[in-house]
Amino acid sequence: MTESHPIGHGGRLTIDLAALRANWRHLADVAECPETAAVIKADAYGCGIARAAPALWAEGCRTFFVAHLSEGLTARKAAPEAAIYVLNGFPPGTAQAYRDADLRPVLGSREEVAEWAARNRAGGMRPAALHVDTGMNRLGLSVPEALALASDPMMAEAGLDLLMSHLVSAEVEHDPLTDHQASEFDRVRAAYPHLRASLANSSGDFLASCRADLARPGYALYGGNPRPGRGNPMRPVVRLEAGILQVRDVDAGATAGYNARWTARGPRRLATLSLGYADGYPRSSTGRGEAVVGGVRCPFAGNVSMDLIILDVTGAPEEVLRRGAPATLIGDGLDLDTVGRNAGTIGYEILTGLGRRYERVYRD
Ligand SMILES: *Cc1c(COP(=O)(O)O)cnc(C)c1O
Repeated sequence: MTESHPIGHGGRLTIDLAALRANWRHLADVAECPETAAVIKADAYGCGIARAAPALWAEGCRTFFVAHLSEGLTARKAAPEAAIYVLNGFPPGTAQAYRDADLRPVLGSREEVAEWAARNRAGGMRPAALHVDTGMNRLGLSVPEALALASDPMMAEAGLDLLMSHLVSAEVEHDPLTDHQASEFDRVRAAYPHLRASLANSSGDFLASCRADLARPGYALYGGNPRPGRGNPMRPVVRLEAGILQVRDVDAGATAGYNARWTARGPRRLATLSLGYADGYPRSSTGRGEAVVGGVRCPFAGNVSMDLIILDVTGAPEEVLRRGAPATLIGDGLDLDTVGRNAGTIGYEILTGLGRRYERVYRD
């Protein structure tokens, strides 16, 4: 944030589209897959489908994944010529909407395949993907089901053009479950030799290699670390800053925030930031959260409130502790994964929970 905090907003979210594009390019290089797609569900992990999809398209990305039909409709506007798959499948009554917007459902049950095939028989062939569950027990046909259906004429009528499965522990290096899933997936691939196949997400790209035709990274595109516990090879995409509203000095024994959950052990200087849990910054960060002020990491003091966070800025340089000066909540070395850990969750949840209340700035 430059000088003053954004007028009329508590915080500023800056999204670096050049970094997003560079991350996709990097993933496409390391994935060793013939093609690398982009997962842009949850409004491109909070970064905005309308801006993220065209940026990725311009970089060469031609295939996108969203979770819901409504997200697919937004993605279609943003990337008119792209192949767009909808992961959560094909709910009753949505066939016409899928067909009108040229979206491809990821079919995950016999019923879904049958209904899509019936629409294709009646109205012309439209492509779809087939999801096989190799261990998550969440979405998709079981392996025996997929094998049994391979020669069913209904499968040909479903217009399938992609076979996919999802890894349970992609971010865990050398997890035997990943190898088991990959070999189960290979058994199904052998029964559907004409279909392109997709298995790896962000972490799978790095740790399990591609093992298929199409990689499906999400989190790493937006700067998340695909290799937890190791150096993050991705560029940060998201920066979150909030302005200082007030600075005050308190004596030893003073408390701060709701329910007096924090007590000054000595004389401390506190700064109040114009951002809180209603902005998507988790209240569970109380006691562990941090922000960077003038290059110094400062701990939260007391509970995260709805619209405010109190920071202990005793260690920060005097000259940056002005009304309107910025504090960085994501960025300046505080990465998504750290912010997630401090909130008792994962960086994914931080990213996708970032509120709609910020001033949004896109850079490219
Ligand atoms: C969300 C999702 C992805 C992307 O995963 P990341 O860990 O964000 O890279 C890939 N495939 C499926 C099926 C997903 O649901």
